[in-house]
Amino acid sequence: MKKLIIATNNEGKAGEIKAILGGFYDEILSLKDAGLTLDVIEDGQSFEENAIKKAKEAARLSGCDTLADDSGLCVDALGGAPGIYSARYAGEGAADDENNDKLLREMAGKTDRRAKFVCAMALASGGGILTARGEVCGVITGEKSGQGGFGYDPLFFVSEYGQTMAQLPADVKNSISHRSRALLALKQKLTEQ
Ligand code: IMP
Repeated sequence: MKKLIIATNNEGKAGEIKAILGGFYDEILSLKDAGLTLDVIEDGQSFEENAIKKAKEAARLSGCDTLADDSGLCVDALGGAPGIYSARYAGEGAADDENNDKLLREMAGKTDRRAKFVCAMALASGGGILTARGEVCGVITGEKSGQGGFGYDPLFFVSEYGQTMAQLPADVKNSISHRSRALLALKQKLTEQ
């Protein structure tokens, strides 16, 4: 019986992971389902380092294969910021709205509005660590639009769809997201093993 623990308590992420990696494992459990609490300081210098750190710690606690992710927004005109600091761009414990307001201030007057969401996945197993990255490109708008999603979605405009991530239906966002692309890349690596 092959079991995977996913180092997240976010039900949306858990569902996405189960849908894409279900074929490789008999059972996929969130930390909460497995009765585990993960307390990791995300002090890596890259999305990959943070994801690996979380996956390794969850593997140590559970003794099972574990999958962890780390993601964020990288804005070209800001030298890749907020990047790995996306969750706390406007300060520790900042709300999404505060982070978005800071981003709007930093982007005021900037003509290059290009940005990408990045996700790194790390799978820790007996075979070592496997990582995969997914990205989705967009541009930062001048004002917030849309009620869906979370985080920077109201400011992230996806040209192919002519809408911000927060305006896109959830199933469309999930199908093009950095997270699903990272998971598909990981699935590909698992298939090739
Ligand atoms: P996490 O690593 O998935 O917890 O993401 C860290 C931070 O990046 C979040 O708190 C958001 O600010 C931002 N972020 C990550 N993924 C998304 C997304 O799909 N939409 C909007 N913001 C995101």
